Amino acid sequence: MKQTKNQSTMAGKSISGINGANGSNGKQEQTSLLEKFFLDQLKDIYYAEQQLVKALPEMQKAATTEELEDAFGNHLKQTERHVKRLEKVFQAINKTPEGKKCEAMEGLLKEARTIIGETKEGSMTRDAALIIAAQKVEHYEIASYGGLVQLAITMGLNRAAEVLEKTLNEEEETDSLLTEIAETYINIEAEEEGVYSWSKKEEETVE
Ligand code: FE
Ligand code: FE
Repeated sequence: MKQTKNQSTMAGKSISGINGANGSNGKQEQTSLLEKFFLDQLKDIYYAEQQLVKALPEMQKAATTEELEDAFGNHLKQTERHVKRLEKVFQAINKTPEGKKCEAMEGLLKEARTIIGETKEGSMTRDAALIIAAQKVEHYEIASYGGLVQLAITMGLNRAAEVLEKTLNEEEETDSLLTEIAETYINIEAEEEGVYSWSKKEEETVE
């Protein structure tokens, strides 16, 4: 019986079942579904990191404070290394580095660009908003790398797991740094820009 791509995928389901129609060596012939998913996720984050390399200079240029400008500049250099590290992971599993359109990162970066368009140039509010946009990006990366590290460990890809974890740590550090910048002064100074449409007294009565 000729096996189509679809049938070979379905075979995985019957291996564990009572139906032995695929023969005893059906399992060996089938590419791991988890490996396929891992590779897919790798392509997703590879594409996402490359998009971020393009967007970070725009965010850097739009920043009001030198501190945020530097933070974006430093993370740009890190992000370029993240791309290189991913290429190492592809090599470790004998695959050619290849990106796959990541809708999530495209959306997050679109949001960052909208923020630049909708906030006042030179304002602290712009930086407060840019930090939140950047943290949304970091959180997406943290979730992606966190998952990839765990899958790599599960599949026994220890070298790949180590490389991915290095990047995961840098994403987490960046996220913390952004929180610190926001909380120590950017949000506070942004709070002083203009007057509110509500009165403070009104707000205090809300339980
Ligand atoms: Fe990254
Ligand atoms: Fe990042």
